[in-house]
Amino acid sequence: MSQESMSQAHSNLFDTDVLIVGAGPTGLTLAAALALRGVRITVIDRLAEGANSSRAAVVHARTLEVLEPLGVSATLIGRGLRAQRFTIRDRDRVLVPIAFDKLPTAYPYTLMVSQAVTESVLLERLEALGGQVRRPCQLAGLTQDEAGVTAMLDDGSRLRARYVVGADGMHSIVRESAGIPFSGASYGESFVLADVRLSGGVPSAEVILYFSPAGMVVVAPLPGGLHRIVATVQEAPEQPSTAYVQALLDARGPERERAVVHDVLWGSRFRVHHRVADTYRAGRVLLAGDAAHVHSPAGGQGMNAGILDAMRLSEGLIKALADDQSSLDTYGSERRPVAQQVVALADRLTRLATVRPGLRALRNAVLSLLARLPRFRRQLAWRLSGLSYR
Ligand SMILES: Cc1cc2nc3c(=O)[nH]c(=O)nc-3n(C[C@H](O)[C@H](O)[C@H](O)COP(=O)(O)OP(=O)(O)OC[C@H]3O[C@@H](n4cnc5c(N)ncnc54)[C@H](O)[C@@H]3O)c2cc1C
Repeated sequence: MSQESMSQAHSNLFDTDVLIVGAGPTGLTLAAALALRGVRITVIDRLAEGANSSRAAVVHARTLEVLEPLGVSATLIGRGLRAQRFTIRDRDRVLVPIAFDKLPTAYPYTLMVSQAVTESVLLERLEALGGQVRRPCQLAGLTQDEAGVTAMLDDGSRLRARYVVGADGMHSIVRESAGIPFSGASYGESFVLADVRLSGGVPSAEVILYFSPAGMVVVAPLPGGLHRIVATVQEAPEQPSTAYVQALLDARGPERERAVVHDVLWGSRFRVHHRVADTYRAGRVLLAGDAAHVHSPAGGQGMNAGILDAMRLSEGLIKALADDQSSLDTYGSERRPVAQQVVALADRLTRLATVRPGLRALRNAVLSLLARLPRFRRQLAWRLSGLSYR
């Protein structure tokens, strides 16, 4: 038997080369990147339809750079809004101004675009490359041996893959089945989110993180004249009302000129954890995105880190399928420390935003002093935009 036909016969023992569990932004990015390179993939998601809610609304410069080979960056930019500035403020006082417009990248801004749009652009690309998402289809568990992984699906069927990637979010069954601990803890507070129509008070094209004794609030512009509001609260309501969001902004946002909330188009709440998987690989099982790391949304890094994981993992898997297994360890050894840095940055921002009232003046003084240093501002811009992870 020739080498080619042996490898064909070997490949036929498997239903797919890579099974991707989860069609969120991480799974869709990985699927499109592998489909682009001709890898046999199967993508499953337990939901009957993709979620169409707003959720993560920030796409950073580095993410647009790494998505270039997929040919989706221009489409995303066309559907988003460019924010060139990020400021940290204590009510009206600017403590830290960060400019993205001088960054050495083709994308010197933060792109504001709803996660539903990001997912639909990635899905369109995957479908154009001949891929599809099998749904509803839930993974119930897995077992692996030296040659491959057997996935048990909720309809009782089995699927045999050479590799399985858990892009199945925070409560990852892939991570659990592989016995990988998810070390970390939870924040006491919950987060409230709302996409609102707003007038007055806040500058356009700027993402603002307001610190206040009552807690933090982020106000960010979205396409279509909307604003995204994110705040930490003790107990978030299931659906924030217009009056609720108005009270948040009155207590924490601009004081000189009131920002007036006209209506809430979408709202949600969630509890935040800061956790990183102890390893990103257990044999032929790999983790990416929220399945591998979760943290506070301060700094808007979550989905971005997942997309960067996916692009890096696609390279590792392509090499592994050509018999270079070490590339999979390199994936984890590169991306896990990045996740730890991202978790630490989000944690620092969250703690700074919520210091006790007695420490507030000291915090503001230290931050204002640091903000005078161009190096400090530049480093923060590089970290937030993701360019420091190049
Ligand atoms: C309400 C809300 C608001 C958010 N707001 C922000 C924000 O403002 N800023 C920010 O940075 N991040 C935010 N996030 C987090 C952000 O949405 C995530 O970081 C991002 O979605 C991670 O992408 P992912 O693809 O790794 O995982 P997910 O988007 O969680 O996708 C996982 C997918 O796996 C599927 N799945 C799960 N289990 C199985 C299974 N057993 N079998 C098959 N399929 C399965 C799920 O259906 C899902 O589609 C928010 C999240 C929520 C829920």
